[in-house]
Amino acid sequence: MPELPEVETVRRGLIPSMQGHVIMRADVNRPDLRWPFPDNMAARLTGAKVTALRRRSKYVLADLDRGETLIIHLGMSGRMTVSGDPLGQFHHDHPAAAKHDHVVFHMANGARVTFNDARRFGAMDLTQTDTLDDHWLIKPIGPEPLGNTFDETYLIKALATRNTPIKTALLDQHVVAGLGNIYVCEVLFRARINPTRKAKDLSKKRVASLVPIIRDVLTEAIAAGGSSLKDYRQADGELGYFQKAFQAYDREGHICQTPECTGSIARIVQSGRSTFYCPTCQR
Ligand SMILES: [Zn+2]
Repeated sequence: MPELPEVETVRRGLIPSMQGHVIMRADVNRPDLRWPFPDNMAARLTGAKVTALRRRSKYVLADLDRGETLIIHLGMSGRMTVSGDPLGQFHHDHPAAAKHDHVVFHMANGARVTFNDARRFGAMDLTQTDTLDDHWLIKPIGPEPLGNTFDETYLIKALATRNTPIKTALLDQHVVAGLGNIYVCEVLFRARINPTRKAKDLSKKRVASLVPIIRDVLTEAIAAGGSSLKDYRQADGELGYFQKAFQAYDREGHICQTPECTGSIARIVQSGRSTFYCPTCQR
């Protein structure tokens, strides 16, 4: 499932084709994904110019010159593909439509942006830009981990009364936006915090230490995604998926990479999801 760095990579990859460009035509090939599409979606997109491509948590936001914003969520398996690159850096022939190509944006600049989602947990909606923050998908989301309101004071307060394991608390999108299973495992590994510890039992110092680690882990992943963009677009035009080197996630049984630790990575299940951590050095 894409997490914040993957979504940010998708956003950056879409900018050359979409930002500042007009949607000549939108094909909406089914009435819904996870939820029904908004009324008259194809007509509301056709002829609109994308004035800005932003991101909030795991949502890509395309502001349109008509005062609406298109909200895009990739869900579990959503993929965005660009063909016919307008900058001429790469040449992709437009591929034949595939089975799960649910929405296709034909840009006036010649680019074609396709949203493909086999499992259909993704979502798209249109809402007024000036009330976007009140949209039901956006409103409950906590602060952006790379934004200014997410800091040590905030996180200490947010976790002070949480009676859940720290891993569960960091996955809670009300606490911080965009963190998912993979990056929470990496963050707690780097912080040497045992993921089963109750959030409220951690010292303020240890909670504070999480803030720069969360920023670093996400920033490094975004950088890795950025460096992969070109390769991926040359390969098949698909955005947002790249090889990452994880230290904990999906490394059950591997030797712990923490210097001087002799432990190995274990897997447990918390709230129905796999947690990877080192029981020796994560305390
Ligand atoms: Zn270890």
